[in-house]
Order: sequence, then structure tokens, then C-alpha cells
Amino acid sequence: GVALLVRRQVREAKRWARAAAVLRDLEERCAAPPARLRQVADAVAVEMHAGLASDGGSKLGMIISYVDSLPSGQEKGLFYALDLGGTNFRVLRVQLGGKEGRVVKQECQEISIPTRLMTGSSHELFDFIASALAKFVASEGEDFHLPEGRQRELGFTFSFPVKQSSIASGTLIKWTKGFSIDGTVGEDVVAELSRALDRHGLDMNVTALVNDTIGTLAGGRYDDKDVIAAVILGTGTNAAYVERANAIPKWHGLLPKSGDMVINMEWGNFRSSHLPLTEFDQALDAESLNPGEQIYEKLISGMYLGEIVRRVLLKMTEEASLFGDDIPPNLKIPFILTTPHMSMMHHDRSPDLKTVGAKLRDILGIQSTSLKARRLVVAVCDIVAKRGARLAAAGILGILKKLGRDTPGSDKQRTVIAVDGGLYEHYTVFSETLESTLRDMLGEEVSSSVVIKLANDGSGIGAALLAAAHSEYLEAEEQ
Ligand code: BGC
Ligand code: MG
Repeated sequence: GVALLVRRQVREAKRWARAAAVLRDLEERCAAPPARLRQVADAVAVEMHAGLASDGGSKLGMIISYVDSLPSGQEKGLFYALDLGGTNFRVLRVQLGGKEGRVVKQECQEISIPTRLMTGSSHELFDFIASALAKFVASEGEDFHLPEGRQRELGFTFSFPVKQSSIASGTLIKWTKGFSIDGTVGEDVVAELSRALDRHGLDMNVTALVNDTIGTLAGGRYDDKDVIAAVILGTGTNAAYVERANAIPKWHGLLPKSGDMVINMEWGNFRSSHLPLTEFDQALDAESLNPGEQIYEKLISGMYLGEIVRRVLLKMTEEASLFGDDIPPNLKIPFILTTPHMSMMHHDRSPDLKTVGAKLRDILGIQSTSLKARRLVVAVCDIVAKRGARLAAAGILGILKKLGRDTPGSDKQRTVIAVDGGLYEHYTVFSETLESTLRDMLGEEVSSSVVIKLANDGSGIGAALLAAAHSEYLEAEEQ
């Protein structure tokens, strides 16, 4: 009896030692100390230059958005917006009152996209959107006013890499996140949407096609004139910022009156030898819908963090029987552990980690777990979330470097970055780590003038504002 007990204890101790070794190894490989973050930030700034020089010159798309002026606050009239690209899609209408009125009234509806549509046909996806929009338009109340004889106008937020050919047209470069639909890449997404609107008898003109970062930047600027960049940290990740048009060698158009041009960086596709990649990241990438693409996004964004954790836990069960001798079958299912689940476990402050236990039971089907195992799970979440947040901070630092706003200026100018996305909004450890990392990297003096501002759902209103700014009826109005 005693011998058996001792043997069991020895086995148990070995098992924990192996699990701890996996954890230590993970921690080492995910390390993003300040020196490394500076290398990442420098590489981002270098790639920004390269991407602005020529199309295809960099992993960063640095896409010209054709938005050369941001909302002034004078925008007026009824406008619609449609936002596609995350887990949900949203429709919105807003009555803009111009200088005095600003947003007179606003209505919004969120519709979740059936997952099968994300990998179905282009036709089906756009039909689904158009039919939801048609229903929404039909519910327009009397608080909204469309002048006689006018067509309704729409700003289309499409949160994927699009090569814009004007403010209201552009072709899809590739799908990202959970989307993978045949026959859309290379097509003009406004034309696709417009055809679907026709099929549903909706008489509406798409006057602006914008990335969600551009919408967020526009919405952010409407509220705060010091907003110069926008970052999305949600299902995917990306950033946009205001560049000087004469600093964009690949721009051959006229110099805009403002002298500015908003750039959609498509930073999710950034990669560099300085990024701390692990075997888990490599495997995740290889098995993803888009291998080799969006490497930075796969380290940072909400679609992937939980999945990275799942992969680490699977290895710990395989090599160290973390949850007992059998491997819980659910642990083998890709994407079963979502980032919201991970966040809930990570934020569990109860002494016995009750929430962690409940999640492991409800999601992974692991009936009972020791406190030690739960602590290990939290430690894994901590490593993965903080690496992502620190790398995102390095990306922001890269933008500030490019703009020369990473060192103390003479003018004490405020620099505001509008941030949107569920990851940033709901994952507190993530957002706090991002902010403290940026503060540390910038130093006391500079960071006192840099503000990160949550722009909740700013991209919808931003798209409506840009639709207003590019309205077909604008000239008539001004005369
Ligand atoms: C897309 C970007 C988008 C970002 C955030 C990325 O996967 O490539 O266009 O802005 O997700 O939604
Ligand atoms: Mg979004």
C-alpha cells in the first residue's frame, strides 16, 4: 500500500514538473521585453515607409483610402451605414444635424452572421446582408428625414483588405479572420453589394466604402479633433492613420486640399523575425484558413488568443497529463476555447478559481480539476494575452515613430488614438497591459500627451459621416 502511494506521488510530481517545463518554455518563447518591442516598433516604421513607396513593397498594405479629409462636424442629413467584418454585422441610420444638431437621432441593429455564410458563396452573403438592410430601411420612422426625390445613401464598412480605386469602389485583396468565400477576391465589393441591393428592391447608393479602421478614425475625429490614428483590436486587428499626402510616393493623384491622406495599414499582415513565435503559433497558422498570412494578427487578435491557449493546454495534457490520464476530447476541437472564455478564466479572482473550473468543465468537458491545474491554466492565459497586448503596443509605437510623435515635441500637441474592438473593450488585462507597455516605452513626458480612447462602435457612425461627406447631393447643397 505504502509503496503504491509513494509511486503515485512520484508519478504525480514528475507530471507537474513536466507541465511546469512546458509553461516555462512557453514563457521564454513568448517573451517580449522592451528591447524586443523596440525592434518590432522600428520594423513597423520601416515597413510603413516601404509600403507607402510602392504597392507590394511591404507586408503592410498601406492602402490609400481616398479619404483626404475627416469629418468636420458640418455633416447633415439622413445616412445609412452597414458594417461587415467581425462576428456580427450591423446596420445603422443616423440623422445628422450639421453644425448645431450633430447627431440628432441614431438607430442601430446588430445581426449575427450564420457561420455557414462565412465560408459559403459571395452571392449568399451579400443577399443576406441586403435582405437585413431592406428590413431595417422599412422600419425607418418619422424622426428621420430624407428630402423629396432623393436616393438614400450608405457608407459601407467592410473590414477586410480592399484595394480602393476611389472612395466608393475597391476590390477585395483577400479574406481574413473566419471568412473564406469563393469568387469575391478580385471583385469590386461595392458592385457586389449594389447588385444585391437591386435584387432586394432597395434603392440605395453606396457613397463610401471604408475599412473599419477608417470608419473608427472618422468617428473618433468627429468627437475629438486630436484623433490621428485608429486601431481595431477585435476579432481581427488593424490600424489606420493620417499621413501627409506628399509623404506617399505611390500616390500619383492630385495633392488633396487638406494635404492629408488616410492610410489603412493592414497591419495584421505584418511579420518580422523579431516577433516571438512559438510552435503553437506555427501550428495554428499552418492549420488556419490563411496559412502564411496575417501573422501579427494571429498573435494579437480575439479570433486567435483562445485558440493558442487551447493548443498549449493540449500539449500539457499530452505531455504531462495535466487533466488526468485521458485527453479530454473537446480539447482537440479547434476554436472551441474562445477569447471571451479565456478572458473570463484569466479574470477569475476567487480563491479557488471557481470560474476557471466551471469553464474547463462546461467547455472542455473536464469534470474536476485541481487548484494547481487551474492556476496553470491562468498562467497560460496570462502569457498569451500579455504577449499580444505588448506586441500591439509596439505597433502603436511604430506609428508614433513614423509620425515623429514618439519623442517630446516643442508644442505639447495631444495625440489621440481611437481604439475599437471587443478584445480591447472587454479584456481588461489585455487593455491595461497595452496601455502600461506603451506608457513605459514612451516615457513619462511623451506619454502624458498620448491618449488612447475607446471609440465604441465608432466605425458605423464614421462610415455614415464619410457617406455624408461624399454625398451625391453635396454640391447642390452647397450652392
Ligand atoms: C482585416 C482588416 C480589418 C481588421 C479588423 C483584419 O483581419 O484584414 O481589414 O481592419 O481585421 O477588423
Ligand atoms: Mg468591428
